[in-house]
Amino acid sequence: MKNLGGNAKQATPIFIHARGIENTIPLICPICKNNKFYTQTSMLRGGRWASFFDVEWLFDKSATICICSQCSKMQWFKDKKAVIPDLR
Ligand SMILES: [Zn+2]
Repeated sequence: MKNLGGNAKQATPIFIHARGIENTIPLICPICKNNKFYTQTSMLRGGRWASFFDVEWLFDKSATICICSQCSKMQWFKDKKAVIPDLR
């Protein structure tokens, strides 16, 4: 069993670096408007249910998951370089 990757202990503000956009975008929870998230990288492989939903490409490599510290809403980012935690 492999470690699932880095797991931030503290909820931090997250900024998203989108291709083609110069400035980073602060990540806001769409549910509760919170701006603090726990981040975790996932190395999930395409499994049965991934095939079922035809999203195998999504689980090809790793993904970064941002979990809202208030309502636990999960937001997945395929490009982990897009997710910039503000650790200050
Ligand atoms: Zn939330």
